[in-house]
Amino acid sequence: MTTTTTTTTRADRAVGAVLGSAAGDALGAPYEFGPPGQFGERGEEMLGGGGWDPGEATDDTQMAVLVGESLLEHGGLELPDIFGRFQQWAAGRPKDIGLQTEDVLTNGEPWDRAAALHFRINARAAGNGSLMRAATSAVYFAGAGREGTMDAARRIAALTHGDRAAWEGTAVLHELVRVALDGADPLAALPATLDAVHPRHRERYAVVLDPAWHPDLATEFNGAVWPCLGSAVWALRTTSGFAEAVRAAVDLGGDTDTVAAVTGALAGARYGEQAIPDHWTKPLHVPLPGFGTRVLHADTLRTLARRLASEADA
Ligand SMILES: [Mg+2]
Repeated sequence: MTTTTTTTTRADRAVGAVLGSAAGDALGAPYEFGPPGQFGERGEEMLGGGGWDPGEATDDTQMAVLVGESLLEHGGLELPDIFGRFQQWAAGRPKDIGLQTEDVLTNGEPWDRAAALHFRINARAAGNGSLMRAATSAVYFAGAGREGTMDAARRIAALTHGDRAAWEGTAVLHELVRVALDGADPLAALPATLDAVHPRHRERYAVVLDPAWHPDLATEFNGAVWPCLGSAVWALRTTSGFAEAVRAAVDLGGDTDTVAAVTGALAGARYGEQAIPDHWTKPLHVPLPGFGTRVLHADTLRTLARRLASEADA
């Protein structure tokens, strides 16, 4: 049974994307780097663990909030400002920060060179770290159309990820969220979305986004961008509601907070905020290291999402 009804509005779906991503992040956090099935076996939800308080969101949501607030304050994409906020956050010693993201934000290079330089030296930069924080920008740029939202996704991803593979995966997520916010089925939009992926990266995404693909077929750890996105789409495809999709994502094990954050963005946009369980959103909170004692709760995230949806400069 689907939980989507005719009364689900675009604003409900926008809130669903942002709040759903945060809820998935917090739900998955205690199981990060654990084996598959650990979450389901425990049978409890949002009770914290692994250094995380119940309902505490991690770097995925923290960075998404920073992107969203920058977009609203500047009335559009101001890349140096987003990079500066990321740096301020990284200097605030967050509990969790991706290795590559930390290096890029602290290597002393300017915003338009830091990630490219890191990629030139390390060659591998296709982590899921730009995908995980895309819910807010996906909502904001949904009004810009397929090309506009995919382009914005690539540019925000490039702030921390020099590898075009990460840009393209983030662009795909942006586009699927855009389609879902329109009330259409993001899975039906996969072929057209793949056509808009950079030709050199299209085939690899076609593999993980194929209906026949299963997370067990992944050739990398799901901290990489391809299986992370593929797993989120798989979770949406093989379930019939928001909570079921996000639970399936966490139960894959590995980078559970991020796979669930990406799944939550997609499923939240698809099913709307009413589909997110209350016992997930009640304890939900997002500390913002580097920004004083600020902690965002579910209502603040709802307001942020509604503003992103309504103030977007399409
Ligand atoms: Mg995280």
